[in-house]
Amino acid sequence: MAGAKRGSADKKQISRRRLLIGGGVAVAAGTGALVYQEELSRLWWRVPGIDKQRNEGAVDQPGAQWIAASRANLRYADRPADYPIDRVIIHVTQGSYDTAVRVFRDPLHAAAAHYVIRARDGHIAQMARELDVAFHAGNREFNERSVGIEHEGFVDKPSSFTDVMYRSSARLCADICARYEIPVDREHIIGHHEVPGATHTDPGRHWDWDRYIRLVRKAVVTRRDA
Ligand SMILES: [Zn+2]
Repeated sequence: MAGAKRGSADKKQISRRRLLIGGGVAVAAGTGALVYQEELSRLWWRVPGIDKQRNEGAVDQPGAQWIAASRANLRYADRPADYPIDRVIIHVTQGSYDTAVRVFRDPLHAAAAHYVIRARDGHIAQMARELDVAFHAGNREFNERSVGIEHEGFVDKPSSFTDVMYRSSARLCADICARYEIPVDREHIIGHHEVPGATHTDPGRHWDWDRYIRLVRKAVVTRRDA
């Protein structure tokens, strides 16, 4: 599950943005306001985490359903231009698909992953754009460099990891790896528990890594031949 632990640096980022907005208001009241505002807007676009033009409802993964996570659970970015993406992080929700979707939409949850996959049919919800930094790894650096995939299920219930979910996830993972030229291996496709400082154990010992990596590699080949 995407943990609520968030780097203090993320908060710092927000404060810096607030400071800029506050500063703009104060100076705009004085002389030379227009010049300053123009200066400010140019400066604004250089600050990481700004709003870039986005199409409402657009997804990175064809076929995924867009369900927006709360803005509080992610940070707007411009990846891979500002942060290279070189990891896919595998999670297990420890709850239902519906619960995961609900909490990621909740601004108080302080966490969200880019994708949530449903066990019964492999349905994919995209909740954060890949260009944005979603708070799912509990580690700022790993949030910035990764795409997070949540799988409906429980770490101690292997039957929750359905065949259709493995296959759906593997296709998604293969596409992410292709988009950012991420090598398909266990160094780059990792479990949440392998993130430095992780307090979470997902996806747990029942997650079949050999099978998953094999499926991702197969999906990469299928993709190339298509
Ligand atoms: Zn997790």
